[in-house]
Amino acid sequence: MTSNMECMSDKTASSHYSSPVVVSPCAACKILRRRCVDKCVLAPYFPPTEPLKFTIAHRVFGASNIIKMLQELPEDQRADAVNSMVYEANARIRDPVYGCAGAICRLQKQICELQADLAKAQVEILNVQTQKANLVALICMEMTQNQENNSSTVSPDHQQAYGNSTTFLENSNVYAAWEPL
Ligand code: ZN
Repeated sequence: MTSNMECMSDKTASSHYSSPVVVSPCAACKILRRRCVDKCVLAPYFPPTEPLKFTIAHRVFGASNIIKMLQELPEDQRADAVNSMVYEANARIRDPVYGCAGAICRLQKQICELQADLAKAQVEILNVQTQKANLVALICMEMTQNQENNSSTVSPDHQQAYGNSTTFLENSNVYAAWEPL
């Protein structure tokens, strides 16, 4: 659909408008039940193969407004204007209250939520990295102590320290936080 419209835009921009390459009757004239004249202002943008395009734009803007807007614009801007009107009409039909603005607000809200999620994830990463560094330091300390003690009995310090670090990891909810990533 988009490539068709771009193609049409190129044609009207590069060729002389007095002899537009259009199929008659155009979708607009067919729907409006009127004769599609040679210089029909709607014909280059509403080909008979895409009747829905005009139906939607017509429902929201009205045929006379579409014609008026196109007549007020230079020919090289008309294809873009039609694309914009069709897009807006589609949005307005989907969301009669906010139209395009509704989609923009939804996307902005989504951006804010994703930025908050990202910030949260970055904090979690920092926490996990700190915990990992602490744990490594703790293990190194224990190994040094064990070597120093050089005895067959397990020191009560070792048991307590290891127990504490495990509880620390479990309480921190690390795994739950990593899942969405
Ligand atoms: Zn026409």
